[in-house]
Amino acid sequence: MSRPFNFSAGPAAIPEEVLQQAASEMLNWGGSGMGVMEMSHRGKEFISIYETAEANLRELLAVPSNFHILFMQGGGLAENAIVPLNLSKGGVADFVVTGSWSQKSHQEAAKYATPRLAATGKDSNFTSVPDAKDWKLSADAQYVHLCSNETIHGVEFQELPDLKALGCDAPLVIDFSSNVASRALDWSRVGLAFGGAQKNIGPAGLTIVIVRDDLLGHALDICPSAFNYKTVADNQSMFNTPPTWGIYMAGLTFQWLKRQTEGSLTGVAAMEVRNKAKADFFYQYLDASQLYLNKVDVAYRSRMNIPFFLRDESRNDAFLAGAKARGLLQLKGHKSVGGMRASLYNAMPMGGVQALVGYMQDFERTST
Ligand SMILES: *Cc1c(COP(=O)(O)O)cnc(C)c1O
Repeated sequence: MSRPFNFSAGPAAIPEEVLQQAASEMLNWGGSGMGVMEMSHRGKEFISIYETAEANLRELLAVPSNFHILFMQGGGLAENAIVPLNLSKGGVADFVVTGSWSQKSHQEAAKYATPRLAATGKDSNFTSVPDAKDWKLSADAQYVHLCSNETIHGVEFQELPDLKALGCDAPLVIDFSSNVASRALDWSRVGLAFGGAQKNIGPAGLTIVIVRDDLLGHALDICPSAFNYKTVADNQSMFNTPPTWGIYMAGLTFQWLKRQTEGSLTGVAAMEVRNKAKADFFYQYLDASQLYLNKVDVAYRSRMNIPFFLRDESRNDAFLAGAKARGLLQLKGHKSVGGMRASLYNAMPMGGVQALVGYMQDFERTST
């Protein structure tokens, strides 16, 4: 029996093969007689799960050797505090606000640092992003923060800014919660990347932080030890008990990613081709349709999260009910934006997008 297509923005769909493998290993992992949730995080079984997951993530994202991969807890929102606690030195940090998530980051940082607004897409209702050459970057900024993909507004950087070329030496911090592992990432432009796992990697509860060596060891005295990146790095993410189940599930997803191919491409490169094809197909349909529309500037349209509206909003509930009846789940838009949202993470196959468009065509025909 095939499962419905799940368009949730997060926690989001997980590849069925990953769920099947987790189910088959639930009571007895690798002949150990224990389930992963029941194992000591310091035992050899879990250490092997952890080391394999870390090595595979490093390979998949092509993370250079001068970056640490940390498996933490707290999610993206906790990182909004943990980043300034570790990087700000109590000084200035610049924020590029392109939607709800970077706006939250900007607000939270004020508790620990002096956040400055370098640019905001607010004037466009977060449907576009000011050009990087117009950003007001501070000479004394300890770091520059942006969200590489705004999950709620559907705004994504197709390319990360080259801060050095803009005359800024500060490290770039990115919140990549909702587009991690969906496309290649240029680490030469990044000092730190963080993201919750529950969008494109695995279950909620695991937070991935990838941080350059030189950014460790600058935490404020008030930084909780368990959230001090240097402490976490020095202890291989085991200063406190890490989210073991999340790391295991993420590890299975990484193995699944490594098995994916498109032509001669594998892993994230293969996903990037697939994700672009899925998003292009969906946007083309939206743009051609008389009933649906997406308002995001074409240059910043997200491949992962696509908000869309019915021109006749009185049909919203009927649209969602009909979708659910066809096995197309969790399409309701975020309450702050309204309308609908289709999240097309790695686990969503092209067949799911085709099924959605097929339904939308039928709905459009019966609505006019
Ligand atoms: C979901 C999300 C968050 C929040 O993550 P939590 O795990 O709920 O703290 C932060 N940033 C982005 C871009 C997200 O998509």
